Amino acid sequence: YTQAKALIYSKYGEPKDVLRLHKHSISAPHATQVNLRLLTAPMNPADVNQIQGVYPSKPPFSTDLGNAEPAAVGGNEGAFEVLSTGAGVKNLSKGDWVIMKRTGLGTWRTHAQLDESQLIKIENKEGLTPLQVGTVSVNPVTAYRMLRDFCEWDWMRAGEEWMIQNGANSGVGRAAIQLGREWGIKTLNVVRQRKTPEETEALKKELLDLGATVVITEEEMLTGNFRDMVHEFTRQGREPIRLALNCVGGKNATALAKTLAPDSHMVTYGAMSKQPIALPSGLLIFKNLAFDGFWVSKWGDKNPELKESTIKDVLQLTRSGKFRDIPVDEVKWDWESEGSELAESVQGTLGGYRSGKGVFTF
Ligand code: NDP
Repeated sequence: YTQAKALIYSKYGEPKDVLRLHKHSISAPHATQVNLRLLTAPMNPADVNQIQGVYPSKPPFSTDLGNAEPAAVGGNEGAFEVLSTGAGVKNLSKGDWVIMKRTGLGTWRTHAQLDESQLIKIENKEGLTPLQVGTVSVNPVTAYRMLRDFCEWDWMRAGEEWMIQNGANSGVGRAAIQLGREWGIKTLNVVRQRKTPEETEALKKELLDLGATVVITEEEMLTGNFRDMVHEFTRQGREPIRLALNCVGGKNATALAKTLAPDSHMVTYGAMSKQPIALPSGLLIFKNLAFDGFWVSKWGDKNPELKESTIKDVLQLTRSGKFRDIPVDEVKWDWESEGSELAESVQGTLGGYRSGKGVFTF
């Protein structure tokens, strides 16, 4: 038996109120079962929405871990190491690193027992860190698919077409900047102003270092002469902005839409401001803009093979130093960690103006 602890919730609410640490034991794996140890699991915004009960996918509550009240394990993404395998397991062995094929399986736990079919093996883990593997399947995959699947880039014009995005310092935004740089797509990036001009400049510089073409603040976009600024960035409109990635909504999203060239797409994937998007009708009538949404969980379930190859591609870029780590706020989870401490760190996820994404490491 392996002793394990999992961060579980049996009713919806704020993470600090409903998450608790549950101790249980895991038996030796049989047949196609695999026993795993946590390496790294991030706290993504959707994980919190899920615990609040306001996210469309809800993991089923069960008593599988010997808990009295039916509950779900928090977290949707993470890297695990294989500890032992059942006799029927074909492709995994002790020491391998794996990630979960689908979301909703619960990753905030020191150990887990899953079926081989639920796992993706990380081939050639050398040259990768648990953080890189544990954060590859949601944010980078989202950025990758949104850049590739909603716009027919004219590859003959590499370096002359643009993507615009808000929430550019998010995990998704940082991934999009780097993929854009690799693929010859210029990026116009919008972030929220920080408390001091120095901090704002530092954030801009961080994104420029990742390969952003231009970084401006939401405040500059909404109050300055944004039209003229865009005109200048895009060489008097000769370089079209053909795609917008919207993480925020509200006025910010409207401003992005207005910069788009005719027949372009705006893909909405987040709603961080919780504000609806208002659109001038002319953008639809005269510019024929299209407004799409993207949800990586649903996309991944429908396209499991493409998801795996997308992950492979990103990890290959990571190995070759072309895809940098996101800034993180590491929360060490050891055997002595209190449930309340762990829940408190989850609670901070939606706070805004954070220096990095919270990640559990075990
Ligand atoms: P991160 O935790 O890395 O970043 C959060 C981002 O949201 C930061 O850029 C932050 O900016 C911004 N933000 C926070 N609060 C607000 C606010 N009130 N108004 C405007 N911006 C705000 O997030 P992720 O990259 O993991 O996720 C970003 C968004 O994308 C989330 O909404 C998430 O749910 C969504 N997402 C959607 C996916 C999909 O498939 N549809 C997949 C992955 C993510 P600041 O630093 O200024 O606070």
